[in-house]
Order: sequence, then C-alpha cells, then structure tokens
Amino acid sequence: MSNKDQKIISRLLDNAKKSELNQKLAAAIYCGNKLPSLNINSHRNKFGKEIKSSGHCEIACLYDIFPEIFKANLTNYVSPRTKFKPNNLTLYVVRYLKTGKNYCGHSAPCVNCTEKIKRSGIKKIVYIDENCNIIKKQVKNYNSNFITSGYRTYSRNNVSVPS
Ligand SMILES: [Zn+2]
Repeated sequence: MSNKDQKIISRLLDNAKKSELNQKLAAAIYCGNKLPSLNINSHRNKFGKEIKSSGHCEIACLYDIFPEIFKANLTNYVSPRTKFKPNNLTLYVVRYLKTGKNYCGHSAPCVNCTEKIKRSGIKKIVYIDENCNIIKKQVKNYNSNFITSGYRTYSRNNVSVPS
C-alpha cells in the first residue's frame, strides 16, 4: 500500500466518521492526485429510480462522475462533464468503526454497487476487508457476494425494488 493510498484512506475515515447513519462509510474517486468526487453514506436520494443503493456513498460518487451510467449500459464512456477517463480512475471505499483496528471496518461494496462500478469502467478499487486489511485490486477481479441488511429487509417483506 502506497503512502498516497494511506493518506487517502485516513482522509476518508475522517469523512466517514461524520456520517449520521449507523453505517459510517465514505467513498472517493481519484484520478491521479485529483479528487473529482467524495461522498459519505447518507439518506439522500437523488438517483431517480435508483432507490436500492441510494444511500451508498460509492453510488453517489459514481453518480457525480457518470450520471449517464444510471440510464444506459456504457463501455469506454468518457464523462462529458469531468473528462475523466474511467481507466484512469480509482474508487476508494472505507468504513469508520469506533471499535475497529485503526478505526477501519469492512467496506467491500455490495452486489448492487459492484454491478454499477463494473459498468462504469473504473479501473481500480481500494477497500477494507473483514480482517481490516486494505485491499487494492483491479475492478475486473473484484466480485461481491455482499448483500446489505437493507436489501435483506426488502426481500423478507417482499418489497420489489425497481432496477
Ligand atoms: Zn452498495
């Protein structure tokens, strides 16, 4: 793990701590040293039909940079607003845990977010695993089987959520 990654992670932990939700996560998308997007978990819902993962900060970051991804299946997409090419981007996701080692908690993106992340074409992802290790890998090698408690509640109550 590089110094730069360490710095980004501690910066994100400081931000995650400020989330008003029980799940205190923060995500950022970096392009080299530029930081086009940073978000924390929140109740906000600005994603139209995308209510399923609206509170997830990684989705908020994707929305900042690739709003069109929520409408269409795009490959090699260049955001007209930011001009950031997806394959120059790295997504960071961290969870703040008061009791965690170094205040870090498991932050691997859920199944839903993963689908969007893959579709965006973002190249690399950095997150924290169950054992508080910082993991950095190519998005194409990242797979999630993590279903959040929110979705489990939806399915227990037979609530269908638009996709
Ligand atoms: Zn998610």
